[in-house]
Amino acid sequence: MATTCLRCKQENPAGAKFCARCGSPVPPPPQPDETLSGEISSDFHRLYRGAKRCIGKAAALAYGALRVILVLSAVVILLAIIGVLIEVISRR
Ligand SMILES: [Zn+2]
Repeated sequence: MATTCLRCKQENPAGAKFCARCGSPVPPPPQPDETLSGEISSDFHRLYRGAKRCIGKAAALAYGALRVILVLSAVVILLAIIGVLIEVISRR
């Protein structure tokens, strides 16, 4: 789609940023707003979904690490209790 120069009405090839005759900036070819906003919103949605997925992964990772720490600390406490019990029993 050719773009028409606002100043000299020269027809310029599509995508031209400056007029071929007078060199003044040529406005970008008119695009349907629906397509443009749709593209932007789909881009935004993709970004949003990606960010959400990333946050979800991070949260799952943090949750998993927390669970591992909790289990390990529980095991350590259990072993300590067992150790104390064995010590108490063997002292008798
Ligand atoms: Zn021009």
